[in-house]
Amino acid sequence: MQRRMARWLPAAVILALNLNGPFALAVPFSYNTGSQMLVGQIETPAYTDQGVTYGPFGANYSFTQIFDGASVVRQVQLNFTFDQNFTTTQQQAFRSAAESGAEGIWNNRAVITDTTTQKSFPLLVDVRTTGPVFDHNIFVNSGTGRSNADVWYAGSVTAGVMAHEVGHNLGLYDEYIGGGVDRYPNPTLSTALMGTGANDENPQVLSRYYQGYLDFMTGLNPGHQFSIVMAPEPSTLLMSLSGVIGILFFRRQRSLLSRERSAGRN
Ligand SMILES: [Zn+2]
Repeated sequence: MQRRMARWLPAAVILALNLNGPFALAVPFSYNTGSQMLVGQIETPAYTDQGVTYGPFGANYSFTQIFDGASVVRQVQLNFTFDQNFTTTQQQAFRSAAESGAEGIWNNRAVITDTTTQKSFPLLVDVRTTGPVFDHNIFVNSGTGRSNADVWYAGSVTAGVMAHEVGHNLGLYDEYIGGGVDRYPNPTLSTALMGTGANDENPQVLSRYYQGYLDFMTGLNPGHQFSIVMAPEPSTLLMSLSGVIGILFFRRQRSLLSRERSAGRN
């Protein structure tokens, strides 16, 4: 009898270590929670690439990052103002679409995992439009055009472009020639969300976009070893379904946006 208990004991201990909720107190690894507001500016001096001069570019970033013990969130308050063509109902619909559009691209893509305990924390972007204190002012034009961090064109802006601009709000540089890149002549370029992929129906989101979350968590919990782990890409079935719908509705807008893309920055 005693021998059998001894054999079961290690398994019981391991089980307790992996449980959350009521057994969490039994876990010897705890985490410091906290929040921090980050405000600053990303700047790109003018540069000439293949005979064309771009910039200079500058953008303010401002957001609050929060770790509540369950997830790591970067919360950004966007203050939308609209041209005269929007009714109050349409303004509210646009705010909702911007929130869900940008969050849909950013969220459920990555977690931070404690490499010792294997405990994982989702990395999230929380777009809010309610204030009362705002991080960014964005003017919404009802027409079509090339959106940037300060002006969005409701007639052509896509969820990917919204998520790209929110990326700037969070302090990320552009990753394509013609945009506000970092470290030209050795910029970081990509075909992902901050690069040429902003107009994709399902832009790739890269691990390095979450580096700030990792720095924040490591600063809060210096005794822990964390790493960013990317989630598998969203369900293929779901994507192919939305892809069909997307192609039907957005084909024209996309080609319009591609043309504008070669003309300026977003
Ligand atoms: Zn951009």
